[in-house]
Amino acid sequence: MIEAPEALCLAEQLNRTIKGKRVTDVIVKNTPHRFTFFYGDTDEYEKRLSGKILKRACAHGGMVEIDAEEVRLVYTDGVNLRYYGPEEKLPAKHQLLVGFEDQSCLVASVRMYGGIWCFPTGDFEGSLKPYYESAKYKPQVMTDAFDISYFMGLFKGKEQEKKSIKAFLATEQMIPGLGNGVLQDILYHARIHPRSKVSSLSFGQKERLFDAIKLVLREMYCLGGRNTETDLFGKPGGYIPHLSKATLGSRCLSCGEMILKENYMGGSIYYCPGCQKYE
Ligand SMILES: [Zn+2]
Repeated sequence: MIEAPEALCLAEQLNRTIKGKRVTDVIVKNTPHRFTFFYGDTDEYEKRLSGKILKRACAHGGMVEIDAEEVRLVYTDGVNLRYYGPEEKLPAKHQLLVGFEDQSCLVASVRMYGGIWCFPTGDFEGSLKPYYESAKYKPQVMTDAFDISYFMGLFKGKEQEKKSIKAFLATEQMIPGLGNGVLQDILYHARIHPRSKVSSLSFGQKERLFDAIKLVLREMYCLGGRNTETDLFGKPGGYIPHLSKATLGSRCLSCGEMILKENYMGGSIYYCPGCQKYE
């Protein structure tokens, strides 16, 4: 799953690669995929995109949005987005291919599930609107708008107190672009157990958590994303997670305890029992 650091890297690569190109070919639903969500009638995609010049791309949480004149193209976090130069061999399977006049193209394929939305600018309607708008308009976690006072404000409310820190941080788009993938290392750095209740955290722990969010996401971004994700050219990122299935059972570099895994809330959590005490 693409999360905030990878989405930002992708948007920058798109701006260097496809910005200014004119769309000449559009192939939608080349390969059937049950869990690909499109915007409205897919027959409209070609009409909307043909002849358009792609402009700026930007990241909203784990989504990437491209401005194509009076149309927008959004790829959500479960989509693999790849650029192919004029001479490169194209993959056989994809859900949206956008070709340009110079024979290069942008190919989107969905992994487990994901959205590929093409819609008139400023006109997003339907049941996914709250999801799109929350990713787009909430303060972006990697920008200065996401500051300590905004972060502390997220904890307000009785219902938040009852949640575990994992549920609080990484569900319901509390922080768009911060999901289970980046969460493990953030909590490891903050020395907080994923199951810890929000109500049990001190002000100091919340401050440490804020610093860990900024630090870990910045490091991931600077290294081109996590090594489990690939960039616009299919190259894996350079960030090697401290906690993942690859480090399960190895020793924590900080305290020497063994890294553990548990199933929790429909996903896996990894943690160091020495550094991240559950109390
Ligand atoms: Zn440790």
